[in-house]
Amino acid sequence: MKAWRFYGFRDLRLDEVPMPVLRPRHVLAQVLVVQPSVTEAQLAAGVRTLAYDKIKQRLETEAPVQLFGHEFCVRIVELGEGVTRFKVGDRVAARAKLPCEACPLCESGRGHLCRKGPIIGFQLPGCFCEYAVLPEIALTLVDDRISDNEAACLQSLSDSVASVETAELKIGNSVAILGQGSMGLECLQVARVSGAGRIITVDVRDEACAMSLELGADYAINATREDPVAAIRALTQGNGADIVFECAGGSPTQGLAGVKSVTQAVDAVRSGGKIVGVSWFGSPFELDVDLLRERSLRYVFPDISTLEHLQHTVNLVASGRVRMKPTITHVLDGIENVAQAFEITANKGKYKAINPAQVRIAI
Ligand SMILES: [Zn+2]
Repeated sequence: MKAWRFYGFRDLRLDEVPMPVLRPRHVLAQVLVVQPSVTEAQLAAGVRTLAYDKIKQRLETEAPVQLFGHEFCVRIVELGEGVTRFKVGDRVAARAKLPCEACPLCESGRGHLCRKGPIIGFQLPGCFCEYAVLPEIALTLVDDRISDNEAACLQSLSDSVASVETAELKIGNSVAILGQGSMGLECLQVARVSGAGRIITVDVRDEACAMSLELGADYAINATREDPVAAIRALTQGNGADIVFECAGGSPTQGLAGVKSVTQAVDAVRSGGKIVGVSWFGSPFELDVDLLRERSLRYVFPDISTLEHLQHTVNLVASGRVRMKPTITHVLDGIENVAQAFEITANKGKYKAINPAQVRIAI
Protein backbone atom coordinates (compact mmCIF):
# COMPACT_ATOMS: atom_id res chain seq x y z
CA MET A 1 0.00 0.00 0.00
CA LYS A 2 0.99 3.66 -0.21
CA ALA A 3 2.02 5.48 2.97
CA TRP A 4 3.68 8.78 3.74
CA ARG A 5 6.86 8.38 5.76
CA PHE A 6 9.02 10.98 7.45
CA TYR A 7 12.74 10.95 6.76
CA GLY A 8 13.33 14.03 8.92
CA PHE A 9 11.70 17.37 9.70
CA ARG A 10 10.45 18.95 6.44
CA ASP A 11 11.13 15.67 4.61
CA LEU A 12 8.07 13.47 4.00
CA ARG A 13 7.80 11.09 1.08
CA LEU A 14 5.10 8.87 -0.38
CA ASP A 15 6.43 5.29 -0.24
CA GLU A 16 5.21 1.80 -1.07
CA VAL A 17 5.10 -0.19 2.20
CA PRO A 18 3.73 -3.62 3.24
CA MET A 19 0.09 -3.82 4.36
CA PRO A 20 -0.13 -3.54 8.18
CA VAL A 21 -0.75 -6.84 9.98
CA LEU A 22 -4.10 -7.27 11.73
CA ARG A 23 -3.89 -8.16 15.43
CA PRO A 24 -6.43 -9.33 18.04
CA ARG A 25 -8.74 -6.54 19.34
CA HIS A 26 -7.77 -4.37 16.35
CA VAL A 27 -9.47 -3.61 13.04
CA LEU A 28 -8.04 -3.18 9.57
CA ALA A 29 -9.49 0.00 8.10
CA GLN A 30 -9.41 1.81 4.79
CA VAL A 31 -8.63 5.50 5.26
CA LEU A 32 -11.37 7.73 3.83
CA VAL A 33 -10.39 11.23 5.00
CA VAL A 34 -7.45 12.38 7.12
CA GLN A 35 -6.14 15.78 8.17
CA PRO A 36 -2.94 16.86 9.91
CA SER A 37 -3.61 18.49 13.27
CA VAL A 38 -2.10 21.95 13.66
CA THR A 39 0.43 20.46 16.10
CA GLU A 40 1.40 17.75 13.61
CA ALA A 41 1.81 20.30 10.82
CA GLN A 42 4.05 22.40 13.06
CA LEU A 43 6.11 19.37 14.11
CA ALA A 44 6.51 18.27 10.49
CA ALA A 45 7.89 21.73 9.75
CA GLY A 46 10.34 21.40 12.67
CA VAL A 47 8.59 23.96 14.89
CA ARG A 48 9.18 23.44 18.63
CA THR A 49 5.80 22.57 20.17
CA LEU A 50 4.10 19.69 22.01
CA ALA A 51 6.10 16.41 21.71
CA TYR A 52 8.90 18.03 19.67
CA ASP A 53 11.71 16.21 21.49
CA LYS A 54 10.00 12.81 21.22
CA ILE A 55 9.40 13.24 17.49
CA LYS A 56 12.98 14.48 16.97
CA GLN A 57 14.28 11.35 18.67
CA ARG A 58 12.10 9.05 16.58
CA LEU A 59 13.27 10.75 13.39
CA GLU A 60 16.91 10.46 14.44
CA THR A 61 16.69 6.78 15.38
CA GLU A 62 13.91 5.26 13.23
CA ALA A 63 13.52 7.25 9.99
CA PRO A 64 11.91 6.61 7.62
CA VAL A 65 8.89 6.34 9.91
CA GLN A 66 5.11 6.59 9.54
CA LEU A 67 4.14 9.52 11.74
CA PHE A 68 1.02 11.57 12.52
CA GLY A 69 -2.54 11.14 11.26
CA HIS A 70 -4.79 10.80 14.32
CA GLU A 71 -7.62 12.96 12.93
CA PHE A 72 -9.43 10.74 10.44
CA CYS A 73 -12.51 8.92 9.23
CA VAL A 74 -11.91 5.30 8.20
CA ARG A 75 -14.05 2.38 7.07
CA ILE A 76 -13.52 -1.02 8.70
CA VAL A 77 -12.64 -3.74 6.15
CA GLU A 78 -11.63 -6.59 8.47
CA LEU A 79 -12.11 -7.44 12.15
CA GLY A 80 -9.34 -8.82 14.32
CA GLU A 81 -9.98 -11.65 16.76
CA GLY A 82 -12.11 -10.56 19.74
CA VAL A 83 -13.54 -7.36 18.23
CA THR A 84 -17.18 -7.07 19.37
CA ARG A 85 -18.30 -3.44 19.05
CA PHE A 86 -17.98 -3.03 15.28
CA LYS A 87 -18.71 -4.80 12.00
CA VAL A 88 -17.13 -4.68 8.56
CA GLY A 89 -18.32 -1.56 6.71
CA ASP A 90 -18.65 0.64 9.81
CA ARG A 91 -17.17 4.12 9.59
CA VAL A 92 -15.23 5.04 12.72
CA ALA A 93 -13.18 7.89 14.22
CA ALA A 94 -10.70 7.52 17.07
CA ARG A 95 -9.58 8.84 20.38
CA ALA A 96 -5.82 9.30 19.81
CA LYS A 97 -4.59 8.58 23.35
CA LEU A 98 -4.76 4.94 24.38
CA PRO A 99 -4.72 3.49 27.89
CA CYS A 100 -1.60 1.41 28.68
CA GLU A 101 -3.77 -1.36 30.23
CA ALA A 102 -1.04 -2.10 32.81
CA CYS A 103 -0.84 0.80 35.30
CA PRO A 104 -2.85 1.08 38.55
CA LEU A 105 -5.31 3.49 36.90
CA CYS A 106 -5.98 1.08 34.03
CA GLU A 107 -6.20 -1.91 36.35
CA SER A 108 -8.77 -0.14 38.55
CA GLY A 109 -11.12 0.64 35.66
CA ARG A 110 -9.95 4.23 35.19
CA GLY A 111 -8.01 3.73 31.96
CA HIS A 112 -9.61 6.89 30.54
CA LEU A 113 -7.32 8.84 32.90
CA CYS A 114 -4.15 6.93 31.93
CA ARG A 115 -1.31 8.96 30.38
CA LYS A 116 1.11 6.08 29.87
CA GLY A 117 -0.34 4.48 26.76
CA PRO A 118 0.71 5.15 23.17
CA ILE A 119 -0.78 7.91 21.02
CA ILE A 120 -1.98 7.19 17.49
CA GLY A 121 0.30 8.99 15.04
CA PHE A 122 3.03 9.55 17.61
CA GLN A 123 3.98 6.12 19.00
CA LEU A 124 1.67 4.17 16.64
CA PRO A 125 1.29 4.62 12.87
CA GLY A 126 -1.55 6.99 12.00
CA CYS A 127 -3.59 7.40 8.83
CA PHE A 128 -1.49 9.20 6.22
CA CYS A 129 -1.70 5.94 4.29
CA GLU A 130 -4.25 3.78 2.48
CA TYR A 131 -4.90 1.22 5.27
CA ALA A 132 -4.35 1.27 9.02
CA VAL A 133 -4.61 -1.24 11.86
CA LEU A 134 -6.36 0.48 14.77
CA PRO A 135 -7.24 -0.69 18.29
CA GLU A 136 -10.95 -1.25 18.94
CA ILE A 137 -10.62 0.45 22.33
CA ALA A 138 -9.87 3.80 20.60
CA LEU A 139 -12.78 3.82 18.17
CA THR A 140 -16.26 5.24 18.04
CA LEU A 141 -18.96 4.67 15.41
CA VAL A 142 -19.66 7.61 13.09
CA ASP A 143 -23.36 8.43 12.68
CA ASP A 144 -24.75 8.23 9.11
CA ARG A 145 -25.72 11.91 9.29
CA ILE A 146 -22.02 12.88 9.55
CA SER A 147 -19.98 13.12 6.34
CA ASP A 148 -16.50 11.59 6.04
CA ASN A 149 -15.04 15.11 6.04
CA GLU A 150 -16.90 16.15 9.18
CA ALA A 151 -15.95 12.87 10.88
CA ALA A 152 -12.26 13.65 10.40
CA CYS A 153 -12.81 16.68 12.69
CA LEU A 154 -14.32 14.69 15.59
CA GLN A 155 -11.04 13.90 17.37
CA SER A 156 -10.10 17.56 17.61
CA LEU A 157 -13.67 18.44 18.61
CA SER A 158 -13.50 15.92 21.46
CA ASP A 159 -10.51 17.81 22.89
CA SER A 160 -12.61 20.98 22.75
CA VAL A 161 -15.49 19.21 24.51
CA ALA A 162 -13.02 18.27 27.27
CA SER A 163 -11.80 21.90 27.38
CA VAL A 164 -15.31 23.26 27.84
CA GLU A 165 -16.08 20.63 30.48
CA THR A 166 -12.94 21.72 32.34
CA ALA A 167 -14.25 25.31 32.34
CA GLU A 168 -17.29 24.14 34.40
CA LEU A 169 -19.27 27.00 32.94
CA LYS A 170 -22.60 27.89 34.50
CA ILE A 171 -25.65 28.82 32.44
CA GLY A 172 -25.35 32.44 31.38
CA ASN A 173 -21.60 32.80 32.05
CA SER A 174 -19.86 35.28 29.79
CA VAL A 175 -17.19 33.64 27.69
CA ALA A 176 -14.26 35.15 25.79
CA ILE A 177 -12.25 33.04 23.37
CA LEU A 178 -8.84 34.29 22.27
CA GLY A 179 -7.99 32.74 18.90
CA GLN A 180 -10.47 31.44 16.34
CA GLY A 181 -8.46 28.66 14.79
CA SER A 182 -10.09 25.25 14.70
CA MET A 183 -10.03 24.67 18.47
CA GLY A 184 -11.16 28.24 19.21
CA LEU A 185 -14.14 27.82 16.88
CA GLU A 186 -14.90 24.42 18.41
CA CYS A 187 -14.76 25.81 21.98
CA LEU A 188 -17.09 28.59 20.81
CA GLN A 189 -19.68 26.15 19.49
CA VAL A 190 -19.44 23.70 22.39
CA ALA A 191 -19.63 26.53 24.97
CA ARG A 192 -22.66 27.90 23.15
CA VAL A 193 -24.57 24.60 23.32
CA SER A 194 -23.39 24.08 26.92
CA GLY A 195 -25.11 27.16 28.31
CA ALA A 196 -22.74 30.08 27.73
CA GLY A 197 -24.21 33.58 27.92
CA ARG A 198 -22.52 36.36 25.93
CA ILE A 199 -19.70 34.98 23.77
CA ILE A 200 -16.92 37.30 22.62
CA THR A 201 -14.23 35.98 20.27
CA VAL A 202 -10.90 37.43 19.20
CA ASP A 203 -8.70 36.77 16.18
CA VAL A 204 -6.38 38.73 13.89
CA ARG A 205 -7.85 37.36 10.64
CA ASP A 206 -11.05 38.74 9.11
CA GLU A 207 -12.03 35.32 7.71
CA ALA A 208 -11.76 33.75 11.18
CA CYS A 209 -13.83 36.57 12.74
CA ALA A 210 -16.50 36.15 10.04
CA MET A 211 -16.60 32.38 10.62
CA SER A 212 -16.87 32.98 14.34
CA LEU A 213 -19.95 35.18 13.89
CA GLU A 214 -21.49 32.62 11.53
CA LEU A 215 -21.01 29.88 14.14
CA GLY A 216 -22.64 31.81 16.97
CA ALA A 217 -20.30 34.36 18.54
CA ASP A 218 -22.14 37.46 19.76
CA TYR A 219 -19.13 39.67 19.10
CA ALA A 220 -15.96 38.95 17.10
CA ILE A 221 -13.07 41.35 17.77
CA ASN A 222 -10.30 41.76 15.18
CA ALA A 223 -7.28 42.40 17.42
CA THR A 224 -5.38 44.17 14.64
CA ARG A 225 -7.95 46.98 14.73
CA GLU A 226 -9.26 46.98 18.28
CA ASP A 227 -7.75 46.33 21.74
CA PRO A 228 -9.29 42.94 22.60
CA VAL A 229 -8.94 43.36 26.38
CA ALA A 230 -10.67 46.77 26.34
CA ALA A 231 -13.40 45.37 24.08
CA ILE A 232 -14.04 42.34 26.30
CA ARG A 233 -14.17 44.52 29.40
CA ALA A 234 -16.57 46.96 27.73
CA LEU A 235 -18.87 44.06 26.80
CA THR A 236 -18.87 42.64 30.36
CA GLN A 237 -19.80 45.75 32.38
CA GLY A 238 -16.10 46.42 32.93
CA ASN A 239 -15.64 43.18 34.90
CA GLY A 240 -14.01 40.92 32.36
CA ALA A 241 -15.42 37.61 31.16
CA ASP A 242 -16.36 34.83 33.59
CA ILE A 243 -14.35 32.36 31.50
CA VAL A 244 -11.56 32.98 28.99
CA PHE A 245 -10.38 30.27 26.62
CA GLU A 246 -6.80 30.99 25.56
CA CYS A 247 -6.53 29.37 22.10
CA ALA A 248 -4.18 31.83 20.37
CA GLY A 249 -0.74 31.19 21.84
CA GLY A 250 2.13 29.47 20.10
CA SER A 251 4.84 30.01 17.54
CA PRO A 252 4.71 33.48 15.91
CA THR A 253 6.35 31.97 12.80
CA GLN A 254 3.08 30.05 12.24
CA GLY A 255 1.03 33.22 12.72
CA LEU A 256 0.24 32.52 16.40
CA ALA A 257 0.36 35.03 19.23
CA GLY A 258 3.46 33.89 21.14
CA VAL A 259 2.75 34.22 24.88
CA LYS A 260 1.01 37.61 24.62
CA SER A 261 -2.39 35.91 24.60
CA VAL A 262 -1.81 34.64 28.16
CA THR A 263 -1.29 38.20 29.42
CA GLN A 264 -4.39 39.23 27.52
CA ALA A 265 -6.36 36.36 29.05
CA VAL A 266 -5.31 37.45 32.56
CA ASP A 267 -6.38 41.03 31.78
CA ALA A 268 -9.65 39.97 30.12
CA VAL A 269 -10.98 37.58 32.80
CA ARG A 270 -12.97 38.84 35.78
CA SER A 271 -11.51 38.45 39.27
CA GLY A 272 -12.29 34.95 40.52
CA GLY A 273 -12.80 33.83 36.92
CA LYS A 274 -11.26 31.02 35.00
CA ILE A 275 -8.72 30.88 32.17
CA VAL A 276 -8.65 27.62 30.24
CA GLY A 277 -5.23 27.19 28.62
CA VAL A 278 -5.78 25.39 25.32
CA SER A 279 -2.60 26.52 23.48
CA TRP A 280 0.80 24.85 23.34
CA PHE A 281 3.85 27.11 23.58
CA GLY A 282 6.79 24.77 22.99
CA SER A 283 8.96 26.38 25.70
CA PRO A 284 8.64 27.84 29.22
CA PHE A 285 7.67 31.47 29.80
CA GLU A 286 7.40 33.89 32.70
CA LEU A 287 4.06 34.70 34.30
CA ASP A 288 3.30 37.02 37.25
CA VAL A 289 1.68 34.41 39.49
CA ASP A 290 1.12 36.96 42.29
CA LEU A 291 -1.28 38.76 40.01
CA LEU A 292 -3.29 35.56 39.55
CA ARG A 293 -3.16 34.95 43.32
CA GLU A 294 -4.26 38.51 44.13
CA ARG A 295 -7.25 38.28 41.79
CA SER A 296 -8.14 34.67 42.71
CA LEU A 297 -7.80 33.58 39.09
CA ARG A 298 -7.99 29.95 38.08
CA TYR A 299 -5.57 29.11 35.26
CA VAL A 300 -6.60 25.58 34.37
CA PHE A 301 -5.80 23.15 31.58
CA PRO A 302 -8.16 20.84 29.70
CA ASP A 303 -8.76 17.36 31.04
CA ILE A 304 -7.67 14.51 28.81
CA SER A 305 -10.48 13.75 26.36
CA THR A 306 -12.11 10.37 26.73
CA LEU A 307 -14.07 8.00 24.49
CA GLU A 308 -17.21 9.47 26.11
CA HIS A 309 -16.17 12.96 24.96
CA LEU A 310 -15.63 11.57 21.45
CA GLN A 311 -19.05 9.89 21.50
CA HIS A 312 -20.58 13.20 22.61
CA THR A 313 -19.05 14.90 19.55
CA VAL A 314 -20.89 12.39 17.36
CA ASN A 315 -24.17 13.50 18.96
CA LEU A 316 -23.28 17.18 18.66
CA VAL A 317 -22.41 17.01 14.96
CA ALA A 318 -25.07 14.48 13.93
CA SER A 319 -27.82 16.62 15.47
CA GLY A 320 -26.47 19.83 13.91
CA ARG A 321 -25.82 21.46 17.28
CA VAL A 322 -22.16 21.86 16.33
CA ARG A 323 -21.35 22.59 12.69
CA MET A 324 -18.01 21.49 11.30
CA LYS A 325 -18.86 21.77 7.60
CA PRO A 326 -18.44 25.57 7.25
CA THR A 327 -14.95 25.37 8.78
CA ILE A 328 -13.67 22.82 6.24
CA THR A 329 -12.21 25.21 3.69
CA HIS A 330 -9.58 23.05 1.97
CA VAL A 331 -10.17 19.47 0.75
CA LEU A 332 -7.57 17.81 -1.49
CA ASP A 333 -8.34 14.65 -3.48
CA GLY A 334 -5.77 11.85 -3.44
CA ILE A 335 -3.07 10.55 -1.16
CA GLU A 336 -0.37 12.30 -3.21
CA ASN A 337 -1.60 15.64 -1.79
CA VAL A 338 -0.74 14.96 1.86
CA ALA A 339 2.43 17.11 1.80
CA GLN A 340 0.38 20.04 0.49
CA ALA A 341 -2.14 19.53 3.31
CA PHE A 342 0.71 19.84 5.83
CA GLU A 343 1.91 23.03 4.13
CA ILE A 344 -1.59 24.59 4.20
CA THR A 345 -2.27 23.54 7.80
CA ALA A 346 1.07 24.91 9.04
CA ASN A 347 0.33 28.25 7.32
CA LYS A 348 -3.43 28.63 7.61
CA GLY A 349 -3.29 32.44 7.55
CA LYS A 350 -1.46 32.49 4.22
CA TYR A 351 -3.95 30.09 2.64
CA LYS A 352 -7.04 31.54 4.39
CA ALA A 353 -7.80 28.09 5.81
CA ILE A 354 -9.98 27.65 8.93
CA ASN A 355 -9.92 23.90 9.69
CA PRO A 356 -6.74 21.97 8.81
CA ALA A 357 -6.58 20.99 5.14
CA GLN A 358 -8.14 17.57 4.58
CA VAL A 359 -7.10 14.82 2.18
CA ARG A 360 -9.58 12.34 0.73
CA ILE A 361 -7.50 9.15 0.52
CA ALA A 362 -10.05 6.67 -0.86
CA ILE A 363 -11.39 8.18 -4.09
ZN1 LIG B 1 -2.52 2.84 32.19
